[in-house]
Amino acid sequence: MIPYGHQLISAADIAAVTEVLQSDWLTQGPAGPLFERALADLCQSKHALGVSSATAALHLACLALEVGQGDRVWTSPNTFVASANCARYCGAEVDFVDIDPRTRNMCAQALAEKLRLAALKNALPKVLIPVHFSGEPCDMAAISALAKQYGIKVIEDASHAIGARYKNGSTVGGGQYAELTVFSFHPVKIITTAEGGALLCQDDALFARLNRLRSHGITRDSGAMDQCDGPWYYQQLELGFNYRLSDLQAALGRSQLNELAAFIQRRRDLAHRYHQLLAGLPIQLPVKSEHSAWHLYVIEVDAAQRAAIFSALRAADIGVNVHYIPVHLQPYYREFGFKLGDFPNAEAYYAGAITLPLYANLSEAQQDFVVSILTKACQ
Ligand SMILES: *Cc1c(COP(=O)(O)O)cnc(C)c1O
Repeated sequence: MIPYGHQLISAADIAAVTEVLQSDWLTQGPAGPLFERALADLCQSKHALGVSSATAALHLACLALEVGQGDRVWTSPNTFVASANCARYCGAEVDFVDIDPRTRNMCAQALAEKLRLAALKNALPKVLIPVHFSGEPCDMAAISALAKQYGIKVIEDASHAIGARYKNGSTVGGGQYAELTVFSFHPVKIITTAEGGALLCQDDALFARLNRLRSHGITRDSGAMDQCDGPWYYQQLELGFNYRLSDLQAALGRSQLNELAAFIQRRRDLAHRYHQLLAGLPIQLPVKSEHSAWHLYVIEVDAAQRAAIFSALRAADIGVNVHYIPVHLQPYYREFGFKLGDFPNAEAYYAGAITLPLYANLSEAQQDFVVSILTKACQ
């Protein structure tokens, strides 16, 4: 099977994890902070916090921005359900902003119009969660300008986009356009820690809060406690979680970071090769981007033929997939009143979408095979 995504683990990765296994600390040792520092430096961020998944990161991000009952959070319908669920964990209401059919990202113009109407009804969101779909950054200059204008906070779901760059060339996660940035290190993403994620932020107080929420709401900082019985003492100041990343995972992540630039270069080369090889077919290709991290390569075929083309690829043992079923059409979200027709661009995109294999060690011969089966299936 040629999967749609796959990790690439080197001898250096194995050595890094083995070193932790042979050390005194399997978790909460030195590997965590070393990974966090390396990640923050790479993204030109002040702080980075390793967490157990991107889902946990999104939950903590919403909590730290005080999202709660009665608040609204808006995200893209073209995302994994976790981008919306984080708001529900906090009791907030979720709504969506339709996508730009070209980039498949939250459309800044649709956002401007929806905000204008929401302001009239006094129903503005507290937080926006744009998602850098497939690794292509959203138009963050426009989205962050709108957020500032209306006093809304921004969490970037950059689960697909570690190492990507905004239009102005700066690195995703540097905090230029968002209070918080979330990464995922699930094995199908750009780099992996098996399960794992991270939160990037620039504000010291926000970072301290996230740190505390990651570990049960507990502090050992005497300045934050109202009494101290001795050197063993800690206080639980609020209700937190165990969303920590182990040292095994952090060591793997730090080792994988060394390969990030090479992984993205390889993904970009393969993506550009798909562009050339598929140019003659009656399908819509993704935007040819120099700034994307190229997590996914999604083509759009005629909706009436999608199931047949998908099945032909699967029959040839090619692990194509579909990203994403619009979140508002999931039964859980339909219960809130969402229905077919609410976000027509996301729905039309979904009807034709097929994700082709793309990962750092996909060979050109494997890619040629995918192209040949796809070409036959399109005839
Ligand atoms: C993968 C993914 C997540 C969830 O990541 P986990 O690390 O598996 O929790 C969230 N949002 C998007 C857009 C994703 O692709």
